[in-house]
Amino acid sequence: MSLYAYEDDLLVYAAEAEERRPYRCSGCGSPVRVRKGPSRVPHFYHLARASSCRLYSKSEDHLLAQLSLKKLLPAGETVIERPFPRILRVADVAWETRKIIFEIQCSFLTPREAEHRMEDYQTAGYQVVWILDDRIFNRKILRPAEQLVRLFPCYYATLRKGDPIFYDQFEIFHRNYRIKKGHHLKIHIEKPRTLPSFSWEEDRFPSQIIQKAAKTSLYFQGDLLHKALLSEAIPMLAISMQNLRALERLSVKEAKQKVSLLRKVIKKIFLEPFGILMFFLLERAAR
Ligand SMILES: [Zn+2]
Repeated sequence: MSLYAYEDDLLVYAAEAEERRPYRCSGCGSPVRVRKGPSRVPHFYHLARASSCRLYSKSEDHLLAQLSLKKLLPAGETVIERPFPRILRVADVAWETRKIIFEIQCSFLTPREAEHRMEDYQTAGYQVVWILDDRIFNRKILRPAEQLVRLFPCYYATLRKGDPIFYDQFEIFHRNYRIKKGHHLKIHIEKPRTLPSFSWEEDRFPSQIIQKAAKTSLYFQGDLLHKALLSEAIPMLAISMQNLRALERLSVKEAKQKVSLLRKVIKKIFLEPFGILMFFLLERAAR
């Protein structure tokens, strides 16, 4: 479903569209109709299955998150479902004055698709900020695309029950496992900032922050990078950064030990008896 569709060459907002009138999807050009109701967001739906169109699989939560973002950002500076015909994409929310694209992700995606999306928008002069639905992401096992996009401007969102909450968090990974995560850091999506040049010393900051600072120059008020920068001036925050770094080292070490212990147990239980049996059978065969 989508909030906008074409009538001839004009984009029409679903709330202003007429039922039973033909419109065309702004993503794939297929025929769409508008659906309205007292308890739903007015939206366009495809008349036929269009699984390759990204707008086709959008949920109502996705549309609500787009509308909430628009409400939070300065009036007149954003465009919902902004078409980029040259790169064949429709951005969830484009913040035109800041050259930022908000991509809300309520379903799985591959690292390849995530990478392509970031590259495409970059060629159009925009930077992607990922908003990941925490019903799908932010779980114990990291999705491969999540592992990638968390290194770039990327936040989680709680999209159910009322207005969405956008947040960042401290987290520790070991391979594709999230072994620890901190409390939600509410971010101000309407207050983006540019990262100043800063010396990110390894002993003073968790690796999550150092890796992110190497990939992006964009951060938002209230996020982890913002907290890390503030730690220059606030001793309490500097101590908490160092504590997080120490916790990270300890947790990763423990996780590695657990894995090696598990390997030893598996070897003892399964492989050793199997080895003995093989030895016994070979001995018999040789007789
Ligand atoms: Zn479509």
